[in-house]
Amino acid sequence: MQTILIVDDAAFMRMMIKDNLKKSGYTEFFEAGDGETAVAVYTDKKPDLVLLDITMPNMDGIQALQAIKKVNPAAKVVMCSAMGQEGMVVEAIKLGALDFIVKPFKPERLIQTVKSIIG
Ligand SMILES: [Mg+2]
Repeated sequence: MQTILIVDDAAFMRMMIKDNLKKSGYTEFFEAGDGETAVAVYTDKKPDLVLLDITMPNMDGIQALQAIKKVNPAAKVVMCSAMGQEGMVVEAIKLGALDFIVKPFKPERLIQTVKSIIG
């Protein structure tokens, strides 16, 4: 079973993402509310996919992406950005993020992106 780490400092956003993924048949989730925790959970659990918010306390999504890629260069990471963060998204793609979704996103876009990466 594929495991997904959902990282966002907004609990409602994590819940929304998880609910939509559950409806599509995914059942194994980990969650983190900041970048530092995300790196720690990634290191411990090695999830198949990370959905990574950009703006977060302690360590932002770009820093967390770099740290996760240090732990595992093959880590599969999708950035969850907000409007107006195009520069950060370009940076993240350069650092090895596979794709991005822009909040607020449609559930279909989320599912399509996740499925295209982990099936
Ligand atoms: Mg945020």
